[in-house]
Amino acid sequence: MKLEHLKSLKKSELHAHLNGSISPKLLYELALSTQTLNAKELGLIQAPPSDWDSCFALFGLVYKVVRGPQILYRCTQAVIEKFLDDGVSHLELRTTLKEDLEHGISWDSYLDTILQATDDFLNSPQNGGQITVKWIISLDRSKGLAYVEKSMATILRHHKKSPYIVGTDFCGDPYIGHFKNFERTFQHARQEGLKTTVHFAEVPRFEDLWEILDFSPDRLGHACCLNKGLFEKILEKQIPVEICFTSNLLTGVVCAPEVHVVKAFYKARHPFVICTDDFGIFHSTINDEYRKVAAILNLQVAEVEDLAARSLAHTF
Ligand SMILES: [Zn+2]
Repeated sequence: MKLEHLKSLKKSELHAHLNGSISPKLLYELALSTQTLNAKELGLIQAPPSDWDSCFALFGLVYKVVRGPQILYRCTQAVIEKFLDDGVSHLELRTTLKEDLEHGISWDSYLDTILQATDDFLNSPQNGGQITVKWIISLDRSKGLAYVEKSMATILRHHKKSPYIVGTDFCGDPYIGHFKNFERTFQHARQEGLKTTVHFAEVPRFEDLWEILDFSPDRLGHACCLNKGLFEKILEKQIPVEICFTSNLLTGVVCAPEVHVVKAFYKARHPFVICTDDFGIFHSTINDEYRKVAAILNLQVAEVEDLAARSLAHTF
């Protein structure tokens, strides 16, 4: 399928992390101008990771470069612009709250900056009403309950005054913590009108997956390391899945394209949306993802068009 045709299809991107979606080219330019990375690190950011650990090492380098409100503002707009160029008509970006007091960033000013950058972009002639952008704020399970509760209080404060914040995401090291400990906080956010998505079964740790499904999140991210019982429960509950194909292969949690769970979801006619996760880190655009999934599912052009059209039905 031709790239221009893929680009022309209106589609949503529902699982994209802000810091992982900065293009390698922009990241390199920023790293040079700010002189925040050494020669070895500059080499590392120009290639995709080869496993789980190298992926997280790359994020460490991104955080070194994205410092201060001006760079954050610029990166936010560049990420939106890139998705617009790739034909995304509805974008849900996500980020955890970041604090960097040395460079003048508190949780509040972090949110203010990305929301202002979004608002300015959407109202610019450059956009012309072609893309809508919403935000999902991620809460890192590995940082404990006090952190998650404090983050949620900040998110809810901003949610009340911003039309852009639409959901929360339960994320972070899946080997640390248990959803049960955080459930009340997410329940509260739900009562306040925020949707929930969860980084779910990205690795084969089944500890709290049943409790997460009992909570009935509005969407699930990844869901690529499932057993039969979990797979069937997701089908029964009809929870749409955010498929991050390249991410799962490069982090090594799925060993080969042929065994990726997207095949089973497609066969079961279960709703899913093709997403990039971190296109800057994985060097794979949303159109690359459509092409790869179309190849593994042997899709005809009309079926790819249908997949893109249906991605717009699962937005928050
Ligand atoms: Zn993710």
